[in-house]
Amino acid sequence: MSLEDNAKGTGKVWLVGAGPSDAELLTVKGRRLLAEADVIVYDRLAGVGVLAWGRPDAVYIDVGKRAGHHPIPQEEINRILVEQAVKGRRVVRLKGGDPLVFGRGGEEASALKRAGVPFEIVPGITSAIAVPAYLGIPVTHRDLASSLHIVTAHKKDGSLPDIRYQALVEGGGTLVFLMGVHTIRSVTAGLLAEGMSPDMPAAVLERGTRAVQRRITGTVAELAQKAEAAHVQSPAIILVGQAAAFQDMDWYGERPLAGVKILVTRPRERTLRLSAMLRAEGAEVLEAPAIRLVPVADKKDLDQALAELADYAWLVFTSPSGVHIFLEELRKRRMDVRRIAHMRIAVIGEGTAGELTQAGLYPDLMPDVYDGAHLGAALAREVKPGERVLLPRARIGNRELTEKLKDAGADVTDLPIYDTQYETLPWLDLEREFADGRTYAMFTSASTVRGFVKSAGDLRLSGVRALCIGSMTAAAAAGAGMETYTAAKPTLEALVELAKEAAAKEREDGRR
Ligand code: SAH
Repeated sequence: MSLEDNAKGTGKVWLVGAGPSDAELLTVKGRRLLAEADVIVYDRLAGVGVLAWGRPDAVYIDVGKRAGHHPIPQEEINRILVEQAVKGRRVVRLKGGDPLVFGRGGEEASALKRAGVPFEIVPGITSAIAVPAYLGIPVTHRDLASSLHIVTAHKKDGSLPDIRYQALVEGGGTLVFLMGVHTIRSVTAGLLAEGMSPDMPAAVLERGTRAVQRRITGTVAELAQKAEAAHVQSPAIILVGQAAAFQDMDWYGERPLAGVKILVTRPRERTLRLSAMLRAEGAEVLEAPAIRLVPVADKKDLDQALAELADYAWLVFTSPSGVHIFLEELRKRRMDVRRIAHMRIAVIGEGTAGELTQAGLYPDLMPDVYDGAHLGAALAREVKPGERVLLPRARIGNRELTEKLKDAGADVTDLPIYDTQYETLPWLDLEREFADGRTYAMFTSASTVRGFVKSAGDLRLSGVRALCIGSMTAAAAAGAGMETYTAAKPTLEALVELAKEAAAKEREDGRR
């Protein structure tokens, strides 16, 4: 690439390996580039989970399947990459696993070079190694396999590839065949014909690193039959060799939330902690923010309240976002946080308290039960008649809270500081995500339920199992027809517990 190209505003393409599906197997570099990209070109093989890490305003281009289910020809994908880059955009081409392991990364690189578009390669974790690891198979082992062969079981034109079975059988070690769901019979027959022992251990590893992953183990002679009986779905790899019988490494299934996929619907900036907690317990997490909280555009009331801060005795917060946005508004005005030093602060619950303590502020009051009615009752006992109470919160807030305060004679300013908008996620196909029957949706407010329902399209809501933080949230989910579960306490910790209980119950019932 020459400097002139840059001056003309040519963008750049990064061919990024997305890893085998588990979003956390994306590299640190890949995640940074994804967050910076103007355009994200992806296909089905890149796990959906990583797409959440792109900018909400990025352009998402799905080149996996076109309407009518025909794959987009490689030439057209190349053309899209060039076209986007010459517009001066930063383009991330996300590819499943590693971009250069049967990923056509080399072909895309050639096309970019021909067009004079600069590019970089970001290697990824290949499914050929990671999927066996997640399903308990070490691809090499001093006692079992001293070499690893990664082979395609699919030819460019769709016909059977000319695999040199004789060399593979003689070479021994672990044989990994990619793209082999439909050719498994010919692959195992090819190996047997060249003298492989019919008792050689083999496995089909289906949709590895995801909640639905399966390992079907058998001898090489019986594998094709077993795979057909189990209705193996794509993507899957065929693994042949002594390592396929390895038994000591089922770490994946031992975690409490293994096999469970959870759609987290909190606003983008609040998903981090909850997703990390769920992933730590073994869940597959899909970050799918259903709502976005935006500071209100009209600042008149806010400015007035801030000008009169000295007259207020109480500051009351009913959500972590309320705290965050309020403090952000102070910062924008270069108002020192000591301007609220004279006020007593009340919060609705632990999450809100947590956001406050991040700023070095500690609440003076928190009810035993985390809802508007209990907060109102607790405040009513403390607030003196005539005292001014500032309540910065969502535009449509809980009414019981304000009523209880007014009954106690408080002078309440209900100050809307943020609006709730519904998110649309162009990369998310909810129907597909819930099709596996083991996906839960997790809701931390009634507004996240409403946002989810709004984006649900043709999804059958009665088939959705909703893990809800509290009774108001559960009522909204039940109202939309979902099967609801409610946390014992309205905290993230209790929500994670709830998910674990649901998963344990499912295991007992033999649903999976
Ligand atoms: N570049 C990719 C491979 C692309 S070829 C990589 O490095 O992983 C596509 C094939 O990869 C699929 O047909 C399947 O054999 C395999 N594959 C990809 N992801 C997989 C997954 N999560 N589980 C099982 N096999 C997978």
